[in-house]
Amino acid sequence: MKKFGLIGYKLNHSKSPRLHQLIASLFNRELSYDLLDVAHINDVSSRIDDLKNGRYDGFNITIPYKEAVLPFLDRLTPKAKKIGAVNTIYIEDNLVVGDNTDYDGFKYLLEQHLSMHQPSGVLILGSGGAAKSSYAVCKDLGLDPYVVSRKPVQSSGFKNLVSYKEAMDITCDLIINATPIGMYPHSDAAPIDVGFVKDKYVIDLIYNPRITKLMDHAKHSIGGIDMLIIQAFVAQNIWFNESITIDSDILKRIKEDLNE
Ligand code: NAP
Repeated sequence: MKKFGLIGYKLNHSKSPRLHQLIASLFNRELSYDLLDVAHINDVSSRIDDLKNGRYDGFNITIPYKEAVLPFLDRLTPKAKKIGAVNTIYIEDNLVVGDNTDYDGFKYLLEQHLSMHQPSGVLILGSGGAAKSSYAVCKDLGLDPYVVSRKPVQSSGFKNLVSYKEAMDITCDLIINATPIGMYPHSDAAPIDVGFVKDKYVIDLIYNPRITKLMDHAKHSIGGIDMLIIQAFVAQNIWFNESITIDSDILKRIKEDLNE
């Protein structure tokens, strides 16, 4: 049986173990998936040793280590290099490799959106790891988003970085929430005045609740649950060296099972 785990901090509410078991059972894979709560970045390096020693076959990385883990890796996939953050690591040719499957998850959401609407302008709220993945996908799909930050620092690597005040004057009709604002248990919060999105489309990366306050006030919205499932699905494909494609029926089944 292959052994995987999630490295992060304060993981007790994570859906990842259940999600990975659900995906594994659909494709006759056997795995264990541990929550590896790590209080300090130095302890991440001992987990990387577990990978090198074969005690684990792969890890997912989450907040707050998606960028902090980079110095411990030997190689990044082109996707991870472009984003500057990883959420999936594994051993290949005796090297510790970092990849980013949040990219694939968000790409699915954005493609869904683009199949019904071509935005006049895009704002990404937040400048953390998820914003970086979203930004890379937007660029790859031909969009040129503005990234909105509480403290815009031009060295951030984003071409168009603006404050929340500046963002209010930008012509846009797609708002991507890549901040944690609105996440359970603070579900009555929103990262911006909800009046701003009443005539706009929202993609919210938050998956709990399924409909955030921001989504609830938008003209049309897509939440983060499909992204969560797809990033896990693609991570498993990498770990098992398979290229199974996920279709809407499988996605629906996993979503229903996760709800139980
Ligand atoms: P992160 O690295 O901590 O970054 C979040 C960003 O949000 C920060 O860089 C910050 O940007 C902004 N932010 C943080 N606290 C804020 C506050 N109090 N008010 C306003 N802005 C604030 O986290 P992340 O990994 O990017 O994740 C962000 C969200 O995406 C989380 O809700 C996470 O659950 C979700 N996510 C979902 C999936 C999925 O599969 N659906 C995958 C990844 C992430 P500034 O400092 O520039 O303002």
